[in-house]
Amino acid sequence: DLTVADAAEKPAKTLPDAQTVTAVTHWTDTLFSFRVTRPASLRFRSGEFVMIGLLGDNGKPILRAYSIASPNWDDELEFYSIKVPDGPLTSRLQHIQPGDQIILRPKPVGTLVLDALLPGKRLWFLATGTGLAPFASLMRDPETFERYEQVIMMHTCRTADELTYGRELVENLKNDPLLGELYGEDFAKRLLYYPTTTREDSPLMGRITDNMTSGKVFQDLGLPPMDAETDRAMICGSLAFNVDVKAVLEGFGLREGANSDPKEFVVEKAFVGEGV
Ligand code: FAD
Repeated sequence: DLTVADAAEKPAKTLPDAQTVTAVTHWTDTLFSFRVTRPASLRFRSGEFVMIGLLGDNGKPILRAYSIASPNWDDELEFYSIKVPDGPLTSRLQHIQPGDQIILRPKPVGTLVLDALLPGKRLWFLATGTGLAPFASLMRDPETFERYEQVIMMHTCRTADELTYGRELVENLKNDPLLGELYGEDFAKRLLYYPTTTREDSPLMGRITDNMTSGKVFQDLGLPPMDAETDRAMICGSLAFNVDVKAVLEGFGLREGANSDPKEFVVEKAFVGEGV
């Protein structure tokens, strides 16, 4: 097996736009995260996505959109990925090891950026599955807490173990001594976490839409219902999830914005295709 040190000694990169894998963590049979070197010239806004991939057997790159899960101040790039058994990219990508190379097209884009929202008091991150990835970036960006008094991460998966990557990330942030120093002891109260499952029993259950329309999430967190004056939101999940959440937010009076036209919420697909 190649180590990072071996990779560093390789004389030349063999792929166009190649970056070297520095770490891989498998969270479940269907989820893993990995880190790669960051091109010196790559600038991005936390929440954006890039195209990454591997060379196919025919020598052509297999590229897919991936949200950057690391914040823009990080020296490396982190990604959080599904493993689709027959997926052209992820059936192979799930086997990468430190020292391997991936292709990374250095052109970040996306709508889940702080500049696409009007100023407000509270920012809601609403995600299912790997839709957590852009928020893993934004939660680790101090700019998010400079702009908003409170950030609420709602994440829904089928089973409890599918929540682990996000849960550990939030716990690490809450216990980060630097953030404590920056924002004071009440930082833990400024980042609220509301993880739910839909198919397995866990302390909190149910769909994000149901927990919002019933008012349960507001009650549980001690917050007032969403209000277009104070609340902003970012949505990232399957197409069906995005459509349903959008309707709920519009019911609270929030309007969809864009980079060129900031409003109260923005939406991005976590993947193309149906999915749940
Ligand atoms: P594909 O042929 O691309 O997909 C096969 C099928 O698997 C799809 O039809 C869909 O039903 C299902 N599927 C694909 N991706 C997912 C997923 N993430 N969760 C659940 N079901 C899925 N994927 C990530 O894992 N992490 C990310 O951060 C990420 N960011 C994305 C950002 C954008 C803007 C878009 C459009 C997609 C993103 N995706 C992300 C999905 C990613 O582009 C690929 O679809 C995924 O890596 C699977 O690639 P594949 O070639 O193996 O299978």
